Amino acid sequence: MTYVGRFAPSPSGPLHAGSLVAALASYLDARAADGRWLLRIEDVDKPRSVPGADRVIMGQLETLGLHWDGEVIWQSARDAVYQQAFDALAGRGLVYGCGCTRREIAEAAAAAALREDAHNDNGAAAGEMPGRAAPVALSDPAFGDSERPYAGTCRHGLPPGRSARAWRLRVPPGIEVFEDRWLGVQRQDVARSVGDFVLRRADGLWAYQLAVVVDDGAQGVTDIVRGADLLTSTARQRVLARMLGLAPPRVMHVPLVLDPHSGLKLSKQNHAPALDVARPLVALNHAWQALGFTPLAASDPATFLRMATTAWAARWTSGVKAA
Ligand code: GLU
Repeated sequence: MTYVGRFAPSPSGPLHAGSLVAALASYLDARAADGRWLLRIEDVDKPRSVPGADRVIMGQLETLGLHWDGEVIWQSARDAVYQQAFDALAGRGLVYGCGCTRREIAEAAAAAALREDAHNDNGAAAGEMPGRAAPVALSDPAFGDSERPYAGTCRHGLPPGRSARAWRLRVPPGIEVFEDRWLGVQRQDVARSVGDFVLRRADGLWAYQLAVVVDDGAQGVTDIVRGADLLTSTARQRVLARMLGLAPPRVMHVPLVLDPHSGLKLSKQNHAPALDVARPLVALNHAWQALGFTPLAASDPATFLRMATTAWAARWTSGVKAA
């Protein structure tokens, strides 16, 4: 099967040192496999998208020599495709309207957690990804999810007098197990630790989870290489992909760059400075070191990327993991 990878930035600002690590790793993995590397602008969350940031990101990638293949796609132009996927699920009874407010969701989740703790002191199954143990890490409200598992309040119908705000997927029971190429075997009980998650948000926007799964399927993506902050979305995305009749891509989640002062992940929300591409080799070598390699002495980005692709292939595509 031909390798298809992608970089899928949200245009909420320019690339920063952290997003370059994901871009570089996904680029190198695709090139090392002689595959295609696609660029998708994830502006499905229209209010969070900054006008012009997409073009800035594209310019930064070009300056760094990270040239993508084929046409760029913008999620903001793909409402009809997401609607179609949503309708297909809804037609099979796999989607339901939820009338809960954020506050009601939090209260129901807290009550459910209390009941469960009373029942069973040891909440999470052995080896499970941080879920109930670290509910904050579970999801990002920006992706249309709440911080705690949804208790299923509206699963069997809206309470009288309520109308649907958001639309949720009926998550089947069971533990999702997958191999992450960087992190090894992962497992998550999505129904228990996330619950029925949102496909269409209360503000009418498509949730990140739906858009990303539909687009990876439509673009024939075989391999996802991205930052470890998205590890907790992977099990959900695999469940949803299969419900849509799609084969879930292989995954590799690469380390996050932490702010040396706060210890928080570098992100646009944490006001990470824009990546300085005036010295492309410095930026590339920083990202390369974050991926665990020693700096490369190259005279220009194209040479750097050729050398890096060879080193990456030796480490990752030979099937032998370096320590
Ligand atoms: N758009 C997401 C972000 O910028 C990445 C999505 C993905 O790689 O699946 O964080």
